[in-house]
Amino acid sequence: MKNITIIGGGLVGSLLAVLLARRGHKVDVYERRDDPRKAKPWEGRSINLVVSHRGWAALRLAGLEETVRKITVPVYARMTHDPEGRTNQLAYSIDHKANWSVSRGELNNRLLDEAERVPGVTLHFGHRCEDVDLDKATCTFSRKGAEPATSTGEVVLGCDGAFSAVRLKMQFGRFNYSQEYIEHDYKEISFPAGPDGTSLMDPNCLHIWPRRYYMLMGLANGNGSFTGTLFMPHKAVPEAPDAGFDVIRTEEQADRFLRTHFPDAYALIPNMTEQYMRHPQANLVVVRCSPWVHGATAALLGDAAHAIVPFYGEGMNAGFEDCHVLCKQLDKHGDNNWGAVLETYNAERVANGHAIADLSMRNFIEMRDLVADPRFLLRKKIEGHLQAKHPDRWMPLYSQVKFTDIPYVDALREGRRHDRIMEQVLAMPGIAEKWESEEVERKALELLDKA
Ligand SMILES: Cc1cc2nc3c(=O)[nH]c(=O)nc-3n(C[C@H](O)[C@H](O)[C@H](O)COP(=O)(O)OP(=O)(O)OC[C@H]3O[C@@H](n4cnc5c(N)ncnc54)[C@H](O)[C@@H]3O)c2cc1C
Repeated sequence: MKNITIIGGGLVGSLLAVLLARRGHKVDVYERRDDPRKAKPWEGRSINLVVSHRGWAALRLAGLEETVRKITVPVYARMTHDPEGRTNQLAYSIDHKANWSVSRGELNNRLLDEAERVPGVTLHFGHRCEDVDLDKATCTFSRKGAEPATSTGEVVLGCDGAFSAVRLKMQFGRFNYSQEYIEHDYKEISFPAGPDGTSLMDPNCLHIWPRRYYMLMGLANGNGSFTGTLFMPHKAVPEAPDAGFDVIRTEEQADRFLRTHFPDAYALIPNMTEQYMRHPQANLVVVRCSPWVHGATAALLGDAAHAIVPFYGEGMNAGFEDCHVLCKQLDKHGDNNWGAVLETYNAERVANGHAIADLSMRNFIEMRDLVADPRFLLRKKIEGHLQAKHPDRWMPLYSQVKFTDIPYVDALREGRRHDRIMEQVLAMPGIAEKWESEEVERKALELLDKA
């Protein structure tokens, strides 16, 4: 068994600590923040996440499925809200499968509680990793008001998020790296609960206000409120010159914009404009890199390895799957053979990390534009129909990503094949009227055999 240093006590680092300590390793987690369980919630910075199949599989492995299930709300469908306030509901799957909404902060706190309970885990808060010796797996930390500290484990695992210090050190070697900011930033806008603690919108739906160049989303909390996120260009584009964080700066501009474009949400949130003015604006970055490992002594997991845009709701789920795959490699190669473990972890995960980055950008376009597009809705109906009749042959891309552990690379490849087939199916004359016909079904299956 090894002495393992984990950098980062976020979602991935705290889950990984539980998994490794349960195997008998001695684990030290170093987190730069103070203990978040003792801090006041960070106003305007809360995010709701959905836990999906891959996330649950890793939580189950750690024995934490039930603990986490208690703080989640099931979400079965997307509900779109048009500019007039009319809604339309679209189920995630034909067989009532759900994603599970949870507050990121609350989940992190639970995972830290669990990590602290497992013998062999020590949590060190207020330790910012400043430097890593990748060959020796030693790290140095700065501490507020205290002398720097060092760690001397045998393996260092970087779970320190999109701006990872461990990854930065890897960049000095033979390492591929790219970082891209998307044009959209985001801000939290929270929806209050009703007077009696009930929800003012259906809590079992992801609410989306898609407006092509910007959108608002809302996910339920257990107490009747919703955490909303407004995504909008950092700099307004000519096609929507009034929608950009750079042009909506005054209270008057914000009030006009929110009232005009999200009237039903505006009616539910008494202080929507005030929240817009007060809450910080955050960026979205995509990071791709490889390799994710350094010999037998260091590896990256979670956002440190693959920071992606949040539009598939898979960043954490993919990070939890990294932990799961690492454990499978430990099962296969033994808990002391980290050279083989990390080599196979890297071989299995990097391409999947790149694929989920691509899938997430693809879903950005789907959520922003297509969920309000009748042609897209027709495609969803046809795909649901095909899946119901031929479940062994047709599984929509969304289901593959969110409700199975099919590798992301394979799901992406299959999704592109479905695009080619559906393009031809949607071009059939009179498709809107005959989408449920045997003719359409036959055509799709023939194309599937050929594609
Ligand atoms: C708006 C939004 C919505 C999202 N929705 C979803 C969703 O629905 N489903 C989903 O699966 N994912 C979602 N995500 C993504 C998800 O939040 C991330 O993928 C997840 O938080 C990654 O976990 P992590 O532990 O790898 O990194 P982080 O959560 O970033 O944690 C990293 C930790 O490392 C610490 N750290 C950083 N640098 C250092 C250092 N030098 N020394 C010590 N500690 C350090 C940080 O303080 C932090 O605690 C969303 C993200 C956003 C922004």
